[in-house]
Order: sequence, then structure tokens, then C-alpha cells
Amino acid sequence: MKPTLLIIDDEPAIRTLLESFLEERYACVSAGNAAEARAAIAEQYFNVVLSDIDLGGETGTELVPSIIEASPETAVVMISGNRDLDDAIASIRAGAFDYVKKPFELDFLEMAVDRALQHNQLLRSKRQYETELEHLLKKRTDQVTYLSLHDSVTGLPNSVRFRETLARELETEPSGAMIGVMLITIEGYRKLQETFGHATASDALKEIGRRLVECVNPRSTVARIDGEEFAVLIPGIRDRDELAEIADRALCHIREPLFIEEDEVFLSASIGMSIAPTDSNDAAKLIENASSALLNAREQGGDRSQFYMNGMNRAARRRLSIENGLRRALDRNEMRVVYQPKAECQTGKIVGMEALVRWENDEFGPISPAEFVPIAESTGAIVQIGEWVLDQAAEFGGDLTDLGFDLLVSVNLSERQLREAGFHHMVMDILAENELPAERLDLEITESLLMTDREIAVQALSELRMQGINISIDDFGTGYSSLGRLKSLPLDTLKIDRTFITDVTTDPNSASLVLALVTLAHNLGLKVIAEGVETEEQLKFLKLIRCDEYQGYLLSKPVPRSDFLELVKRCSSGSAGNSTAVHLCLAA
Ligand code: C2E
Ligand code: CA
Ligand code: CA
Repeated sequence: MKPTLLIIDDEPAIRTLLESFLEERYACVSAGNAAEARAAIAEQYFNVVLSDIDLGGETGTELVPSIIEASPETAVVMISGNRDLDDAIASIRAGAFDYVKKPFELDFLEMAVDRALQHNQLLRSKRQYETELEHLLKKRTDQVTYLSLHDSVTGLPNSVRFRETLARELETEPSGAMIGVMLITIEGYRKLQETFGHATASDALKEIGRRLVECVNPRSTVARIDGEEFAVLIPGIRDRDELAEIADRALCHIREPLFIEEDEVFLSASIGMSIAPTDSNDAAKLIENASSALLNAREQGGDRSQFYMNGMNRAARRRLSIENGLRRALDRNEMRVVYQPKAECQTGKIVGMEALVRWENDEFGPISPAEFVPIAESTGAIVQIGEWVLDQAAEFGGDLTDLGFDLLVSVNLSERQLREAGFHHMVMDILAENELPAERLDLEITESLLMTDREIAVQALSELRMQGINISIDDFGTGYSSLGRLKSLPLDTLKIDRTFITDVTTDPNSASLVLALVTLAHNLGLKVIAEGVETEEQLKFLKLIRCDEYQGYLLSKPVPRSDFLELVKRCSSGSAGNSTAVHLCLAA
């Protein structure tokens, strides 16, 4: 294909001459005036335009800008007579590439046209390059936009996109229609990640994403919003029941085993749900509500779904503040330990004490350990707090020994602490530092501590027990353990839960249950202690059935060190012997 050339001259003879000279190398078109030239340019593309400056009517110079505008890469060469040299310069200014003076040598003219062609080619490749660059840029921008709105592991929309989509749906959903929002946490994912590594964990997430997409209709959006958290937006639902059904389906799908290497791995999920417009019409609020409901579902043990209910946010906010407060509680000296005595039922003699942690904070005032200990357990703060309590109690135990009171020091132990590497050493170090013999320490554990990874827990407890440390099972009767299962555990003492003691004197069922517990525990060689003893009648009953020890408000509430010291001193001076004497000295 020859390059194209437009020759503009008002003299037919010159047009013919130029054409015949250049047509071997160029596909030539001729125009006799500006109008014809414009028509030709509108018709086809020219690489080069060769134009006389003096066209009779409109000048070639005037024509140049319109050529450049119509076809920016076309290279224009002007032909000028001697007297219109100024015009030639003007035409260069207007955008022409070059000019040749009349009279010209044909070879010289050809060289000028060739140079113009090269220029034209240069411009064209520059333009092509720019277009490619633009294209590339657009592609990259699209990619970045995609990445900023999608999760790279699962390819699902991310939280930004999810929020956007939810806001849009809320605006466009016809009034009366409901939109469901679900937040889903995958339980067991962290463990899977630790066991099988990141690559496998990512595959598992992809699979979970696929399963979730299968559970919902095509109008829904499934997003991965964080580590092991997914969110689902379901427009056009009829009622709550429909959303609950979808959640059940999702839970079922997630429970189905994953096949990893040779193993079957089981995951489960918790789901929090909120509904527009019932709960809110605001995207952020709906997500916050679903998140509170999710927290609630997890607190109930997980593997379930939960709708948002009024007031949940307040509870969730309080929980969050407690979590934050706990991180600083020890540094700020906000915690202290109180001690509750334990006495022998038959003699009333104080033989031990339970250390119970207390927390008082500017924001909340005093907070019950029943509220903050479970939170500290879930965040891991209990590890540090528990160590501190143990240290305080051991120190106090040591002081009491120096004063002549060899009491058993009981400390509550959380599962998280037991699983901490180095726990055993930490305990032994604290005992050594405070010069408290291992035989004087008692660790109170609950049955739930033995629920997960039972073997590891049993192993750790056995080691502690081998050192001489006493192990008690706390709150007995509230969990799942049967007495039969206790046989295989490294235990010394069984603590009967308060709820049974409360009714022993009024409810024959409780009475016979407690009797059975005491007898069977004795058969297993365990010491039995009753907690929550508040009345003389309860104590009388416990004596009757030969329960070993008791603890409760009847004897004393948990009290600070100094009060406790007063208490043991008073009770030991002379009158120790029966429980009535103890109460008398408390009353004094
Ligand atoms: P727990 O180990 O079962 O402790 C006994 C609870 O019953 C204590 O509540 C105690 O004050 C209360 N109590 C004692 N005698 C009576 C009574 O006669 N009547 C009634 N109604 N209650 C009585 P507290 O101190 O509020 O502790 C609650 C729970 O918090 C404890 O239950 C224990 O599970 C946990 N906890 C407390 N301190 C610690 C700690 O240092 N570490 C760990 N891991 N948990 C702790
Ligand atoms: Ca306890
Ligand atoms: Ca208890």
C-alpha cells in the first residue's frame, strides 16, 4: 500500500506535473482549491498534503489549521513563491511541517515530501504508543478498582463493596420489601490455618465462599469482609422466617466436611442477622446490629444463628469497653484479690481460703468477675490476670504460714492459662518465690476446662498434681461430667455447686442429690466441699451427711487480706472447735 498524498494547486498543469512525478511512490489525489481539498480530506486519510500557498481564493496558509484539526498526524508541505516567503513562515506557525520555494527542483521537492512522510509516520507511531499506553492504564485502573472492591483469596466482593451494595439496595428496594443482612464467622478456621498452613486455609475459604453462594438467590451478594468473616446481603425477602431458613441452610452447608489431604476437616459457623427496614434503614446500623447478634450467637457457644434484638448493641458496646479496660486494669492497679475462708464442717476450723479477683474501674465502678472473667478468657487477658492473682494469693499464703496458719490456698484456674506454654514453670516459680510449699496450693478448675482437648488438659493437671499441688473440680453438677468420668481425672477435691446447696433444706431432690454426690465422691477417695452455704440449717445438713468442708456467707464473704487475717486470728484464739464458735467470733 502506497502512502497517500493530496496535491493542492489552482494550476492544473502544476497538479499534473507533480502527480505524474510522485505517483510512482504515492497514491495521489489532486484538488484545485480549498473547498475541494477539504472535501478530499473528509473523504480519506492523507499521510502528506502538498499545497501551494497561493490558491487564488482562500490561501493555503489559511487552510493548514483545518487540515491539522481534521487529521492531526497529516504532514503538510507548502510550496511558496519568492514573494510570499512570509506566508510560508506563517504557515509553519499554523502547523505546516515544511515548505519548498519556487522554482523548485523536482528531486528536492521529493525529498521534502519524503521527510514529511517520515514525520507523519513518527506522529502515527507516537499516537499508537499513546493509545496503547492509555489502554494499558485503563486496564490497570480497572484492575486496581477490582482489587479494591474484591477479596483476592475468594474473588468475592470485600467489605467496601458490600457496604456500597447494601447502601444502594436500601435506596432502590421498593418500599415494603425486606432486605436481610447476615454476618458469618467461621469457627475452627484459625485452628485449620495453624494445622494445615495458609495455602490450605485459603482453599477452605474459597470453598466456604462457594457454599455460601449456593445457599442464596442470584440477587444476593456474598462478600468476604475479614479473616474468617463473611457477609451476605439478601434483598427481597418476605419475612424473618425466610432469612432464618437461609441461615440454617448456610450452617448446614458449612458443617459438611472439607477434604484436606487425607483428612476430613469439620468447620462450623455463627451467624448474626438484621433486617431492613425492621431493625434499621441505614447500612452501617444494619451491619452493626448483625454484628451484635453475631457476638451473641458466639457467646451462646456458636454453631447457630441469631437475629438482632433491641438492646444488643448496648451489651456489645459494654463488652468492648470491658475488653479494652481489661488490657490496662493491672497496670492501673485496678485489681485486687479478696479471700473467702473454707472451714471443716465438723469442727468449724478454718482450713483454707479461696482467692477471688475484684476489679473496680472509673468507667464501670465495681464489675463482677462473673462478667469480666469470661471476657478476659476470650481475649486471653486472663493469662496475665490469673498469674497475678496466683502471685498475690501465694504471697498471702506465705505470710499466713509465718504467722502460724497453715491454710490451703485455692486459686481459680481458667483453661486458657493451663494451655499456656510454660504454665507449669510459672506456677512452680511463684511458689518458690513466695516460699509456699506445693502441697499448700489448690487449683480450682471447672468441667468445661476438660471439654476441649481433654488429654492435653489431663496431662498438664497430672504434672501439677505430681508436684503435690491439690486439684479441685469447681461448680460440680452444673456441667456434663458424670461421677463415673471423674475416676479417670487427676483430682483431690470435689466442690458441690452453690445451686444444689441453696435448696438442700427445702427440696428433697437436691438433698438426695447432694447426699449421693458426697457418698460417691468419698468412694472415689475425693474430699468434698460445699460452696454457697448461707444458713445454719444447710450446715447442719452437710454435717449430717459427712461433707468435709464448707464455704459461704454463713462463715464469711470474700474479704480483703487484713480482714481475713483478723478473722483467722480471732477464730483460732481459744474458741476454735465448732462452727457456732466461729460465727460468734465473726459477730464480735
Ligand atoms: P466461683 O469460683 O464459683 O466462686 C464462688 C463465687 O460465689 C464467688 O463469686 C463468691 O463471692 C460467691 N459466694 C461465696 N459464698 C457465697 C454464698 O454464701 N452465697 C452466694 N450467693 N455467693 C457466694 P465471685 O467472687 O463473684 O466470683 C465469681 C466467679 O468468677 C467465680 O466463681 C470464678 O469462676 C470467677 N473468678 C473469680 N476470681 C477468679 C480468678 O482469680 N481467676 C479465675 N479464672 N476466675 C475467677
Ligand atoms: Ca472457685
Ligand atoms: Ca464455685
